[in-house]
Amino acid sequence: MTPSAQNHCQRPDRPRISCVVPALNEHDNLALLLPMLSDLLGKIAGGWEIIVIDDGSTDATPQLLADFATKPGFRYLQLSRNFGKEAALTAGLKVADGDVVVILDADLQHPIELIPAMLERWHAGIDTVYAVREHRDDERWLKRVGSSMFYGILGNGGRFRIPPNAGDFRLMDRQVVDALLHLPERTRFMKGLYAWVGFKSEPILYVPAERRHGQSNFSLIRLTRFALDGITAFSTWPLRFLTAVGCLVAIASFVYGSYLIVDYSVNGNQVSGWTTIVTAMFFFAGINTMALGTIGAYIACIFDEVKQRPLYVVRQNLGRSTGADPL
Ligand code: UDP
Ligand code: MG
Repeated sequence: MTPSAQNHCQRPDRPRISCVVPALNEHDNLALLLPMLSDLLGKIAGGWEIIVIDDGSTDATPQLLADFATKPGFRYLQLSRNFGKEAALTAGLKVADGDVVVILDADLQHPIELIPAMLERWHAGIDTVYAVREHRDDERWLKRVGSSMFYGILGNGGRFRIPPNAGDFRLMDRQVVDALLHLPERTRFMKGLYAWVGFKSEPILYVPAERRHGQSNFSLIRLTRFALDGITAFSTWPLRFLTAVGCLVAIASFVYGSYLIVDYSVNGNQVSGWTTIVTAMFFFAGINTMALGTIGAYIACIFDEVKQRPLYVVRQNLGRSTGADPL
């Protein structure tokens, strides 16, 4: 029997499914999503739980979730404040207990109809099935250019590849979740961590729906900060790039300086020009500051790691999964 066939046999027909849903001020969306999702899970799962992580909501999300948590299957994890989506996801993964774990957003952008298809691939032996956006035509050009630059930098010759246009919407086998939870770092750049742990992964194409209520929490500034965090956490390419720039500039100035000395000695030509000196000075000041800033970004990352603070603080943890054998 091949290893993949063995894997296939061990997988139950109706696995226990945990859904992890991070939510920040998503009352109206959750009121629609939770009944639909529980209907679906009731049909396909052997036992299920929907874990909503309230990441410091200030609307009526907490009341809604506390109500839902009185029914079997709905779990409510409230964080003590807003810690960010990546921390909320980690909190959800930590309490999720299913054979498979599905991550999806609360705003109905991730079509839940895709979950049975993902589950089919899991039955076929795939450990992670991740949803990839078919296109990004709905986004502004600045965001599209920024994201392709981001994936260009991240995908730079590493041993593992972060798939472009894949978000957090995915189904993962228990083993993958356990591997993710064993990663000790504080900079939880999840897109990178999913790729780092490896396992058999397969994309599944989808077109994200419009956000049903409210607005995206990720402005262009927040996205840029998120992208920079990802780059410092997953690539040393900027540091090597700066070393290369430094070397090139040093070589160019040595060649140019030698030429000036020879020109002066042979032809007696003197270099005149305030403009040249001032331009060169600002150029080098710019490069130096850029280099310091880049090194600073890596030091900030180290600083966050060495503080060893917990990633989030849980205020309350309510509810339980369905089934005789609670997850
Ligand atoms: N979210 C969160 N904490 C945050 C920001 C967002 O839990 O600090 C949740 C949000 O409620 C949603 C998901 O993460 O369920 C994706 O956020 P959003 O829809 O704002 O992002 P976008 O879809 O625009 O990338
Ligand atoms: Mg969204």
